[in-house]
Amino acid sequence: MHRKKTKTDELVRKDKRYLWHPFTQMRDWEREDVLVIEKGRGNYLIDTNGKKYLDGVSSLWCNVFGHRKPELDKALEKQAGKIAHSTFLGLTNPPAIKLAEKLIEITPKNLTRVFYSDSGSEAVEIALKMAFQYWQQKGETKRKEFVTLGDAYHGDTIGSVSLGGIGLFHAKYKALLFKTYKIKAPSWFMRGGNLSEKEFLKQVVQEVETLIRKKHKKICAFVMEPLMQGAAGMLKHPAGFLGAVRRITKKYGILLILDEVATGFGRTGRMFASEHENVKPDIMCLAKGLTGGYLPLAATITSEAIYEGFLGSHSELKTFFHGHTYTGNPLASAVALENLRIFKREKIIQKSQSKIKQLASGLRKFRCLNHVADIRQSGFMIGIELLKDVKKRTPYSLKEKIGIRVVENAREKGVILRPLGNVIVLMPPLSITESEINKLLNVTYKAIQKVTNSG
Ligand code: PLP
Repeated sequence: MHRKKTKTDELVRKDKRYLWHPFTQMRDWEREDVLVIEKGRGNYLIDTNGKKYLDGVSSLWCNVFGHRKPELDKALEKQAGKIAHSTFLGLTNPPAIKLAEKLIEITPKNLTRVFYSDSGSEAVEIALKMAFQYWQQKGETKRKEFVTLGDAYHGDTIGSVSLGGIGLFHAKYKALLFKTYKIKAPSWFMRGGNLSEKEFLKQVVQEVETLIRKKHKKICAFVMEPLMQGAAGMLKHPAGFLGAVRRITKKYGILLILDEVATGFGRTGRMFASEHENVKPDIMCLAKGLTGGYLPLAATITSEAIYEGFLGSHSELKTFFHGHTYTGNPLASAVALENLRIFKREKIIQKSQSKIKQLASGLRKFRCLNHVADIRQSGFMIGIELLKDVKKRTPYSLKEKIGIRVVENAREKGVILRPLGNVIVLMPPLSITESEINKLLNVTYKAIQKVTNSG
């Protein structure tokens, strides 16, 4: 008997006929049951059949206050009633101006200038071009190299891929990429062995200092995510690493670029992760949570010294020749501005602390599961690493698709997750409630237990 085709069937047919999804093996996609998200409300996504799913990864780490936040909806509508877009090349607009002022107010005190773009990848691409051009124009033309961390992810444009180091994503493009000096990811779990966190910190700081002492005359900037390397698999750095990198880069006159695309906007329990170690970068990259997860907007924020390095007469050609059609988009800026107001008005960072503690204590029981090798948390950023054999450190093979299967199981129970290989990522919106945290943890626990046959 044939089931009558529904509206959803037709949408799915057309999706599979016309679309190409990011980071997706489309042959698998064409065979899979596809979820069509039509609406959102609070921390839930709602599909075309009206089924609700808890948004356990904040719609790829960008949603902050849930979906259909009335104040953000209103800010968007209000701005749409004025203008959706006009160019930022040769013109300016009120929301982008006001947002820049606010961003300078809340980011580290040495940062004074905002350069807008549309995605995290671009924010990083811009930072690296700025750093490079800055030294060229300062006459230190040998400073062309970047120092990056192993397994880093800074986005998908060719410059940010060059800074990255995730073999799975980046190896195919090797011929297109520029080389960087790499410090192995300072992940205590991966490399710590029997060392204490403090001993491990000492070791990795020494690695940084040795490299920089040798190469500093050629180095333009050190680029890293502070505290936690998100897409690398939620790799947590030992406490003190960020501060040490700032100390060393300063000592050798190297710029520090912090990619806070994932860690920014409260995700680690402070507005920016750099605050945990009181670090002032020379350039900071922001995106994702900047608009509360509503619209694409990114910002590369620099010190006045870098900005001044680009000043000169028209014919000197010191201009930063970079820009995008939608740079400084008024709709996105208006929403971002309201997003920042909500942070302040609703004391979001303060209110987050009990939720972070609840997540931490709820995660403790996961350690009893046989295949859970590590749990890493920084605020709302959580990675649960699964291994086939925890004692021997044997990973699951790619074919076993263990992360994907856990996520599929969670979806059946009404929770949307997305794995990073064999690491199950939880990154809920900051607006997640106490009972929703329980749901997120319970469903994830049971999904891991079921898929890994753990007791
Ligand atoms: N940098 C970091 C640390 C990220 O986590 C991401 C995305 O996940 C990016 C850059 C790229 O951002 P986008 O996907 O907006 O280009």
